[in-house]
Amino acid sequence: MSSNNETIQTDVLIVGAGPAGLATAIHLAEILKQRGRNQRIMIIEKGSSVGSHILSGALVKPSVFKELLSDSDYAEIPFITKVRKDRTVLLSEKRSLKLPFHAPYMSNKGNYIASLGQICKFLASKAEKKGVEIYPGFAVDELLYKGDKVIGAKTKDTGVDHEGKHLENYQPGTRIEARITILAEGSRGSLTKSLIKKYKLDKDSNPQIYSLGCKELWSVPEKNIKPGETYHTMGFPFKHEEFGGGFIYGLTENRVAIGLVVGLDYHDPGYDIHRAFQIWKTSAFVSKFLKGGKLLEYGAKTLPEGGYYSIPKLYVDNALIVGDSAGLISMPALKGIHLAVKSGMLAAETAADALSIMDTSENILQKYQLSLNKSIIGKELYPVRNFRESFSKGLILGGIRFGTQLITGGAGFSGRLVPHEDFQRTHKMSDYKNKPFLERFSNKQEYDKTLTFDKETDIFYSGVHHDEQQKCHLLIKDREEFSAINIEQYGAPCQYFCPAEVYELHVDKTGKKEIRIHAENCLHCKTCDIKSPERGITWTVPNGDNGPEYQNM
Ligand SMILES: Cc1cc2nc3c(=O)[nH]c(=O)nc-3n(C[C@H](O)[C@H](O)[C@H](O)COP(=O)(O)OP(=O)(O)OC[C@H]3O[C@@H](n4cnc5c(N)ncnc54)[C@H](O)[C@@H]3O)c2cc1C
Repeated sequence: MSSNNETIQTDVLIVGAGPAGLATAIHLAEILKQRGRNQRIMIIEKGSSVGSHILSGALVKPSVFKELLSDSDYAEIPFITKVRKDRTVLLSEKRSLKLPFHAPYMSNKGNYIASLGQICKFLASKAEKKGVEIYPGFAVDELLYKGDKVIGAKTKDTGVDHEGKHLENYQPGTRIEARITILAEGSRGSLTKSLIKKYKLDKDSNPQIYSLGCKELWSVPEKNIKPGETYHTMGFPFKHEEFGGGFIYGLTENRVAIGLVVGLDYHDPGYDIHRAFQIWKTSAFVSKFLKGGKLLEYGAKTLPEGGYYSIPKLYVDNALIVGDSAGLISMPALKGIHLAVKSGMLAAETAADALSIMDTSENILQKYQLSLNKSIIGKELYPVRNFRESFSKGLILGGIRFGTQLITGGAGFSGRLVPHEDFQRTHKMSDYKNKPFLERFSNKQEYDKTLTFDKETDIFYSGVHHDEQQKCHLLIKDREEFSAINIEQYGAPCQYFCPAEVYELHVDKTGKKEIRIHAENCLHCKTCDIKSPERGITWTVPNGDNGPEYQNM
């Protein structure tokens, strides 16, 4: 696809080539083939190639792929290894206790360890064989409307300077008009966010809340861990008001994937998730897996964790929302891949029916959400509908509340629990009375660059790059207001929560403080869009082809 002024027509436009978008395309192409219909399906992906913006754990529940693919294609999925050992570990800095049981929903019997990026590359090749057109390297930054109905989307104009002025190499984006547009942008999708806002699709749902996961891939001595060994950790470095956990997955070729996932509903304005991840690695239990090894890759990404009650309305005239953009993650299990794939398949079935009767109105597309609720998605998410919010008041009360939900089919004794948005949970500096994060770990300020790395070093291992010639994609609406609220009242939390050192607090000689934005470091995790006090920062889509260059995440 060239980037120019033309308008392209397609039957179905899918934004995002993650598992949700690719499953939508594969299943739709298959259904249309069986019905003898020849219709155009396009996927637009902002990463330079399919998979380059994909980051996950990843432990994969395989059964849904058997529904999606033929037996011969299923046999080719590049799973790394089957899970062979699966333990939940209670951690303190020096000690660890392997629990003799799993926390509910945490068993990984029968699951596989994979690089989700590699699986997406594989799925893309299968989709292309079915005639799906995939265009990586193009960011979609605008939905197109006729009246108030979605009629497609437009890729981003390129060749503009930082003030938005057109340069010699200016290329207007391409308008892609589609009978159905399917948003598969992953966590906190920016088009999805605008669609939800425009149509108030979340008016009956809970606000969505998120976690941020930081991940590293290491090469380690053979003796450190066997392929298929998996550990999930609870405890250190969290205190009871913070929600999160770690993962350690033994891969083939003497590699290990490690990560820390932290709920963004924490209160401390100085909480630094990347640093917490580095501190977690210093525990005796985690560090032994990394001893003598070297870092291969680093990345970070958010995941929606509000669950069942946070799923918005997922259809409007001519458009559907799938996967993480729809909020389909089972948080007690830390799993969304199979739900993303299933939602794509259900969207494909609804889209195929709508196309065949030439009626893509929401009256027809609502079937998607009805079937989603009746499918494994509804069946997995409904019983744990209050899970995440149960833990908002700490681990002990959370454990008790979750226990009551397990015996009452998910209801608990308090009925539907409603969270606040994550940014509303951050305390102002003057209101935060507990020992601040940075003081709690004041003995761990140094990074040894062997086991622990500062953000600057880590992001080198993400391959991140952004064109200099573009408007900054991180928007601060009103600098004065940002300064008064985000900097003065909250102490500029963006400098801490960003896992890629995008935000730097600069203090000039007169003591005036301002935030400097290093947009070139951005890993597209969207934490700033979620956690910045009073929605001070808005993440927008940078040029296509920009961002991280993940290889095996
Ligand atoms: C740290 C971490 C660990 C996890 N571990 C597991 C696990 O072990 N097992 C499990 O099942 N799940 C896990 N998950 C969740 C799982 O990764 C997600 O549920 C899944 O990736 C969602 O798929 P998706 O297709 O909806 O979105 P994504 O995988 O995020 O894909 C979205 C794609 O859309 C593209 N895109 C977004 N916006 C645009 C745009 N405007 N224009 C063009 N392209 C765009 C992105 O570049 C990306 O390629 C984990 C998630 C994280 C962050």
